[in-house]
Amino acid sequence: MSIQKILIANRGEIAVRIIRTARDLGIKTVAVFAENDKRSLHVTLADESFSLGDGPLDQTYLNIEKIITAVEKTNADAVHPGYGFLSENPHFAIAIERAQIHFIGPPASAIETMGHKVKARSMMMENNIPVVPGSDTLNTVEELKDFIDQVGFPVLLKASAGGGGRGMRQIHNLDEVESSFESCRREAKSFFNDDRVFCEKLVKNPRHIEFQILLDKHGQGVHLFERDCSIQRRHQKLFEEAPSMYLNEEQRNKMGQMAVQAGLAVGYVGAGTVEFICESPDQAWFMEMNTRIQVEHPVTEMITGIDLIAEQIHVANNKPLQWKQKDLSFHGWAMEARVNAEDPSQDFRPCPGLMERVSLPHGPFIRVDSHLYSGYSIPENYDSMVAKILAWGRTREEANARLQRALKECEFSKPTTCSFHLKLLQHHDFQKGQFSTNFISENTAELQGAHPETIPSHIESVLSACAATPQKSSKPLQGSTKSWQDTAHQHGVLQ
Ligand code: ADP
Ligand code: ADP
Ligand code: MG
Repeated sequence: MSIQKILIANRGEIAVRIIRTARDLGIKTVAVFAENDKRSLHVTLADESFSLGDGPLDQTYLNIEKIITAVEKTNADAVHPGYGFLSENPHFAIAIERAQIHFIGPPASAIETMGHKVKARSMMMENNIPVVPGSDTLNTVEELKDFIDQVGFPVLLKASAGGGGRGMRQIHNLDEVESSFESCRREAKSFFNDDRVFCEKLVKNPRHIEFQILLDKHGQGVHLFERDCSIQRRHQKLFEEAPSMYLNEEQRNKMGQMAVQAGLAVGYVGAGTVEFICESPDQAWFMEMNTRIQVEHPVTEMITGIDLIAEQIHVANNKPLQWKQKDLSFHGWAMEARVNAEDPSQDFRPCPGLMERVSLPHGPFIRVDSHLYSGYSIPENYDSMVAKILAWGRTREEANARLQRALKECEFSKPTTCSFHLKLLQHHDFQKGQFSTNFISENTAELQGAHPETIPSHIESVLSACAATPQKSSKPLQGSTKSWQDTAHQHGVLQ
């Protein structure tokens, strides 16, 4: 029997986004929620909701047993894990299978292989997919030194189980080797509960280009083209676009084929993302695969007209893919700005708390994915991303102009990354497509100041009141400059 009721093991904008497609398909939804999050929009929008109770994340959104209980109590016949939380936890996929319901995601074995970067790299090498020159798991600092002797400085030390841009250290000279090795292992242990690390050559001024893939349970797979996610801060994506100016048709076909091959190699099923790091358009290396729906999937939806959540559900229902690669094409350009509750003028300081007033943009060729509403209090123990604002255009310039229009229409009674995005879109080098993953750090001064146009005059007074009484409306996290994501990682939100 095909899926009738999906329990969404997530929160925030992605839970809302999944509910909407389920509704399009006539499928019922169940929201789960932590008590401190019960006013979240996904709870109101779903057909049913189930409380996971109070307590830290491992007692709520990360608690497999409680989620299985919720499935049983609500008679859901499928679980969608969203991104983050349990989405890349193979034990969760196994628990769902044991409960004899559909897991809207890949088999646990594929999650397991791709979740461990060293394993994933060796699997890719076996399949002749180029990987960044790198090491196996490094057990001692001597092993690290031996690797550096082979490739030279600079290198990037990484947590094997890493994710969300955490657990990485650049090493530029011999003096840094020992301390970086120890601190990377400590960080890997505390964020991912796994202290295994490995090392890669640090690619200079690279581009991050990833491919959306979709595979069915009948051995067929296609790619849905690329996304350029090179605009990053501290290895975390802030802005994405599709297609990428960086690739020509030949390079696109070649990388797309490699991405599908990577999925087939691990028996992948459903929607996934294969990430490449590019030194030049002709030199793309496999970096990792994310075995879930990606934050930035809507840019792909906008240029292909394909609803990726609906496709995930069709695949879970055992349906074959509707297309062969040659049937697929894309049209125009799409851009996505991640709106985080962070203040770019203060080095992206997190700003959780009450969002008294929100007005999100509308109008031609704009898409907004968000769980925000006026009066919503942004909890401080979850991700800082509160909205994704997207625009489509026939050309990159048209998409850019429309996204600027949408961002200028936004009204937020607290600082957000909107001001940053406006400056980015107006930046000459960005407009010309001349950027690498170092773009933000190289242009900090230009990109991080407040942008007058994002702050409509009628709420300026609210903002100055906030600034005068920071303890009320923009409480810093534990008095430190630690980012919100750091805190989420420590609670194990990200794998
Ligand atoms: P992506 O390419 O999808 O951003 P990453 O591996 O970098 O993949 O990390 C996942 C992203 O999702 C990060 O931006 C993280 O902060 C965010 N995230 C993780 N879990 C959640 C969640 N439950 N709600 C909102 N955002 C989340
Ligand atoms: P995560 O699992 O945290 O997403 P990734 O391996 O995907 O980790 O890397 C995240 C980001 O770090 C990339 O998008 C890229 O900007 C940077 N990065 C990763 N590997 C390298 C490398 N070898 N050289 C240069 N930058 C890298
Ligand atoms: Mg990544």
